[in-house]
Amino acid sequence: MDTILIKNAGWVVTMDPDRRIFADGAVAIEGDRIVEVGKTEQLAAKHKAQKVIDATGKMVLPGMIDTHVHNTQQLGRGLADGCEINVHLLERLYGYETAMMAEDAYWAALCCQLELIRAGTTCFIDPGSYFPRETAQAVGERSCPAVRMNSFDGSRRRRTTIEWGW
Ligand SMILES: [Zn+2]
Repeated sequence: MDTILIKNAGWVVTMDPDRRIFADGAVAIEGDRIVEVGKTEQLAAKHKAQKVIDATGKMVLPGMIDTHVHNTQQLGRGLADGCEINVHLLERLYGYETAMMAEDAYWAALCCQLELIRAGTTCFIDPGSYFPRETAQAVGERSCPAVRMNSFDGSRRRRTTIEWGW
């Protein structure tokens, strides 16, 4: 079984029932399981791991889950800043999305997902767009898992559902 010790973390944020946070923290991993979290001094003495990751100056925390991110709107950022919601949606974003081509949607989704990974997001739900297939294609080219998306296919006016695994 592979063993990993992440040590010297500036902070380990557990999100366990007691909401424990450890300064100079460590995480011991065996196989696909976290077996212990705590202070580096204690865990380093107890867990002799095959792989040791020095997390000096880093924060270690559970992966975040984004439960509402429209991947294809990534390239439309700034189009509707400061607008009333009706202008924001009806004039700016819907106009942007209806002018979008499949290749645009693919690149928007890929950029969105790269940003999600960079921010520590490990899973997302896309609530929909005109391009669920292109969003799913982008999912297949990186490692952030996504769950399920329902959307309307703009050209055929029918509901499309796509599911991904990881
Ligand atoms: Zn939405």
